[in-house]
Amino acid sequence: MAEKFPIPTYIIIILIISRLISTIGNSKPSNILVPHKLLTLDIGARLHLDPAAIKSASSDYGNIFKENPVAVLYPTSTEDIVALVKAAYNSSVPFKIAAKGRGHSVRGQAMADGGVVVEMMALKNYRNGNGITVGSGFYADVAGEQLWIDVLNATLEHGLAPASWTDYLYLTVGGTLSNAGISGQTFRYGPQISNVYELDVITGKGELMTCSALKNSELFYAALGGLGQFGIITRARIALEPAPKRVKWVRMLYSDFSSFSRDQEYLISMNGRRQKQALDYLEGTLIMDQGSLDNWRSSFFPPSDHPKIISQVKTHAIIYCLEVAKYYDDHTQSTLHKELQTLFKGLSYLPGFMFEKDVSYVEFLNRVRSGELKLESQGLWEVPHPWLNLFLPKSRISDFNKGVFRDIVLKRNITTGPVLVYPMNRNKWDDRMSAVIPDEDVFYTVGFLHSSGFDEWEAFDDQNKEILKFCENAGIKVKQYLPYHRNKEEWIKHFGSKWNTFAQRKAHFDPKMILSPGQRIFNNI
Ligand code: FAD
Repeated sequence: MAEKFPIPTYIIIILIISRLISTIGNSKPSNILVPHKLLTLDIGARLHLDPAAIKSASSDYGNIFKENPVAVLYPTSTEDIVALVKAAYNSSVPFKIAAKGRGHSVRGQAMADGGVVVEMMALKNYRNGNGITVGSGFYADVAGEQLWIDVLNATLEHGLAPASWTDYLYLTVGGTLSNAGISGQTFRYGPQISNVYELDVITGKGELMTCSALKNSELFYAALGGLGQFGIITRARIALEPAPKRVKWVRMLYSDFSSFSRDQEYLISMNGRRQKQALDYLEGTLIMDQGSLDNWRSSFFPPSDHPKIISQVKTHAIIYCLEVAKYYDDHTQSTLHKELQTLFKGLSYLPGFMFEKDVSYVEFLNRVRSGELKLESQGLWEVPHPWLNLFLPKSRISDFNKGVFRDIVLKRNITTGPVLVYPMNRNKWDDRMSAVIPDEDVFYTVGFLHSSGFDEWEAFDDQNKEILKFCENAGIKVKQYLPYHRNKEEWIKHFGSKWNTFAQRKAHFDPKMILSPGQRIFNNI
């Protein structure tokens, strides 16, 4: 068998195996059944051990965690990944495997300490332009490593687009579907995981399975929001709608939190997918004295209005910014103004503090990109990102405002990045999926999207811990989005009544606990 392989590949594989064995603490090499199997695989040439490959797979957007894999697979096909997972599964001492999308996690979730990282985006080079196929029935078949920006561009060519988005589009489809994929559209269209018809998934046993609500449904629901625990998503069939052309984008400012949240909740109560009298997007942010009015998520306010806004911020310490959008095209342009007037009637924003923009649909959806490029050019995109994202029940949002925004955040006085706060509707989520949300019909997402200096991230982390402690002490049942938990007890609490199902699904689809070790749910505990 051996003469079939070029020598460097052979040496690489031996090196990988010996390093994998050495990382598996007390296992004896004689127990390992992998070598022969791996040596007969064709993927050796795509496994990289060089320092550059290891380095790129050992960090993420968070820039806080560093964990070295033993090797990095740059797959050229789905079969390469199947072969790798099968090799791990069939080994007497299975090694860990993490799919890495864009590595835009913030706490090492796409890392595999001592294991193998699969650079999913390498597949893009081998698709021959077939990574995104728009079907005839209002759907697109999208390979797991594709970016949402590419999904947007490809579907727009057919006059179609997905309805549910993330704020930032340079994330992979597999990565966001493993979490949920949320943005201002979620209140009406559900998270991205609610807009998927079918998946292809490579399970932890190395089986490539097609699943949907009707076929292998247990795997389908497990994988959506499943934090990469049950399989590697290689294709998703994503629902499409006719794409609008333009967007009326509006921001309104509030000094009073209860008026702000009451108006947000009122506006998301109109949420039928086909309901004409409904917004398409709703979010909210905090504007504080510490930050500039514009941030990387968008610049919006006309410079001539900055002084009057800053003056409000100085007076109230926090100004709450409600942000909404309504799509339109040639057919709906004539009724847009009237619809918005009706929707906004009775809202309690500060008089004179409504700001509008009229932009193309693509400009709206891709609004974060210019901020990213600007920060990147200044070397500020690759700083640590000690983010904290939470879901919390509507009934406690006012307590959260008092205890966190107006107390912890103002007192610590370090928050400069965007702080998001907006509600969504529980009935747009599917409880059979792995994603975890609060029990109430309406719940809020709050995101502290901090950027910090290399020596300062711990101060933000301390603030995050204080916020979580406050919620615990006040009995506010928060769930982390893009969760990071340190031990099994915390994970069990996180999943609550879903824990047993989650653990049973893990035992079924990844019984040897191979996949996505960086989430630290079943490993390192
Ligand atoms: P990675 O970070 O590479 O992976 C995330 C997890 O998924 C890991 O556990 C990994 O092993 C697993 N995984 C990756 N690919 C696959 C696959 N194909 N199959 C199975 N598992 C896989 N999220 C939102 O919901 N809304 C937002 O608006 C939003 N905006 C963001 C803006 C920025 C600037 C950043 C950095 C992140 C944002 N996120 C947002 C969070 C983002 O959705 C998550 O970080 C997501 O995990 C990133 O996708 P990724 O492709 O980089 O995945």
